[in-house]
Amino acid sequence: MRVFRLCLAAAAGLFLVSCAAPGGGRSEYGHRPGPKGFRTVILDAGHGGHDSGAKSRWTGQMEKDAAMDTVRRLRQELGGQFRVVLMRDGDEFISLDERVRRANGYPEAILISLHYNHGGANTRGTETFYWRMDSYSLAKRIQRELAAVVPSEQNNGGLVRRRIRLTRNPEIPCVLVEGGYMSHAAESRLIADSGYRQRLARAVAKGIRDQAAYGDAGMGPLPRPINAPLSRPTDASEY
Ligand SMILES: [Zn+2]
Repeated sequence: MRVFRLCLAAAAGLFLVSCAAPGGGRSEYGHRPGPKGFRTVILDAGHGGHDSGAKSRWTGQMEKDAAMDTVRRLRQELGGQFRVVLMRDGDEFISLDERVRRANGYPEAILISLHYNHGGANTRGTETFYWRMDSYSLAKRIQRELAAVVPSEQNNGGLVRRRIRLTRNPEIPCVLVEGGYMSHAAESRLIADSGYRQRLARAVAKGIRDQAAYGDAGMGPLPRPINAPLSRPTDASEY
């Protein structure tokens, strides 16, 4: 993914001035408590097909392949306890809006989108993006588990509230996980290691299981509602 922190932060600031949900209840933009007791998890491996995502200049690994592999490991980690739906199970291109449409076919599910990052050469570590209130605790739990897995973090965002297509547009709780920076020499070699991807998958699975068991309990106050329009392709960033 590309990082446009400054302009997005400015845009988010504009939306903060509005706190009334236009035409509806507080749940309209996912402004409701986080889920508990859910049984279905949609796993979305980022990119695919002609869209390779990031590529490591050190290992040659492509983000779409690392994401697919990690999602399969995550499916295995979750196996038995949840019904797992894969957004893609092969090297297939699916547009972001189509991913949102498919996710909305499972109204009782949560959505986890899995990516790897690229950015400055001195940036490393994991990040978890969320937008909606009902996705905050899930994102926080996952990011906390991820931080315990990565050997070091540098200039990364950690837990980030950001309005992108897969954190804003689905009608179900949804988070986007960045499992490390492919643009960082040491971290890209880690990402190429199957043991690291397995540890990441285990960490994300623990966050999901804890959310299913405890809901928002113990996660502190939910973030304030921000009423913002759907994210569109013209909004700048691709994920
Ligand atoms: Zn990506």
